[in-house]
Amino acid sequence: MTAPRSNSTPQVAIIGGGFCGAAAALSLLEKGIGVTIFESQPELGGLASSFDTGAYRLEKFYHQWYAGDENFEWLLDVLGLKAKEFSISMEHGFYFRDSVWRTRNPLDHFRYTDLSLTESARMAFGIWKLGAVTDWRTIDDYSVKDWFTKYGNHNVYEKFWKQLLVSRFGNYADEISVVWVWQKLQSNKARKGRSEKGSTSSYYEGGFSALFDDIEAHILAQNGVIRKQTRAELVRADPSANTSITLQVDGSAHAFDGMIITTPLPEAARLLAHTLPQQNLDAFNAIAYLDSRGIIIRSKRSLSNCYWLSNRDLAFPFVGVIEHTQFRPPSEYNGEHIIYLSQSTAPGMEAYDMDDDAYIAYGLAHLEKMFADFDADWVIDAHTWRAADAQPAILKKYGESVPPPELPMANCLIATQAQVYPDYRGTHTAIRQGRDAAERLSQGLVT
Ligand SMILES: Cc1cc2nc3c(=O)[nH]c(=O)nc-3n(C[C@H](O)[C@H](O)[C@H](O)COP(=O)(O)OP(=O)(O)OC[C@H]3O[C@@H](n4cnc5c(N)ncnc54)[C@H](O)[C@@H]3O)c2cc1C
Repeated sequence: MTAPRSNSTPQVAIIGGGFCGAAAALSLLEKGIGVTIFESQPELGGLASSFDTGAYRLEKFYHQWYAGDENFEWLLDVLGLKAKEFSISMEHGFYFRDSVWRTRNPLDHFRYTDLSLTESARMAFGIWKLGAVTDWRTIDDYSVKDWFTKYGNHNVYEKFWKQLLVSRFGNYADEISVVWVWQKLQSNKARKGRSEKGSTSSYYEGGFSALFDDIEAHILAQNGVIRKQTRAELVRADPSANTSITLQVDGSAHAFDGMIITTPLPEAARLLAHTLPQQNLDAFNAIAYLDSRGIIIRSKRSLSNCYWLSNRDLAFPFVGVIEHTQFRPPSEYNGEHIIYLSQSTAPGMEAYDMDDDAYIAYGLAHLEKMFADFDADWVIDAHTWRAADAQPAILKKYGESVPPPELPMANCLIATQAQVYPDYRGTHTAIRQGRDAAERLSQGLVT
């Protein structure tokens, strides 16, 4: 039975309490529309959520945002908590041929390579050619491999780009669209606040866990409802009822006037399995995803003075080494040093099936190879997290497979990471998507 609705304020269900769901909720509340967030995990935050180490709270995966981002400006304005943002310019570097190199300028990445002089010149030509592209649609059917083999040569791809792509996209590396590189070039050009030494990043006083506590308090103060540890099970459109959409939770159905689904597409397809035409479900399931795995190490000592050490060595399987306490001082963490490792993984890859203990041992062994001084005695403790379907594989022609936000049922929208294209996905685009979905939905709802 569908529970009857008792008041006349339109009510919207939001599935997922990450940045996208939170921004949608805040935006709808500002418009006088009621919201209920359903979040399957014990706390809000999604990929940017935190955990208790036993000594303090930390993000499960490293997180920061670029200073001056307009979506965060909006969010902090809504909360009235702009004063809690602080921005820092940080040291970046990269790991290559068993050594750590400092990045003083993005071009340094191209200076230290295994490429010959001729190959470096070909690489520069490929980058220049890509930087001159104005419409990404004209290059979406090139993979990074196609592009840099054509405008560089085989080695330019194999010795440089492949290293970067494998830790991010695993076995999909050779098929990743060159739009992924194009977008990085565009955002590097556009990003404000970059300095010679590094980029300016922002963080929140008390971390992302404090930010989500403040978001939660704001939503509750506006009479929004948050149901944590509550997994949305099934969505049904019910045109004959007073309300258009029902959501099954804990075995019972709840009626809503509208809905925004912010989960990864495979979960959205499961939720909508009895409602959406097969062709829409097939389109959702056609996008390949990778999981994210990460290790957080509480260490007695620091590894280097870089915040972000990108990996440029195929033998090192992680995207990089991120030393959070180069961003926030160790004094905020009992004098300890916080180190993150992360990578994307999919079936068939080395890290995919490892259990947590084996995965931590694998990460520590790689750190020992990378930093001669690093010793297991430094480790106070280590934690590991996994996020399923965290990263869509941006294969060539990806633009053709991006589903629109509207679904073939009234007042139900999908706003998920996989639809952000060609922009570089992150917390900022999740906020943008949540706001955009709220705007679209509110136009169809009567207040
Ligand atoms: C390792 C890593 C590092 C990153 N670092 C940064 C960074 O430094 N800066 C940055 O800007 N971005 C970073 N990102 C990206 C950023 O985390 C994401 O872009 C952003 O958090 C996505 O938000 P979202 O709300 O769209 O999705 P999610 O955060 O995935 O939220 C979806 C939510 O839906 C919930 N859910 C799923 N199914 C159901 C269901 N059936 N019922 C109820 N709830 C459900 C999930 O539990 C989750 O909370 C990083 C990502 C990773 C993986």
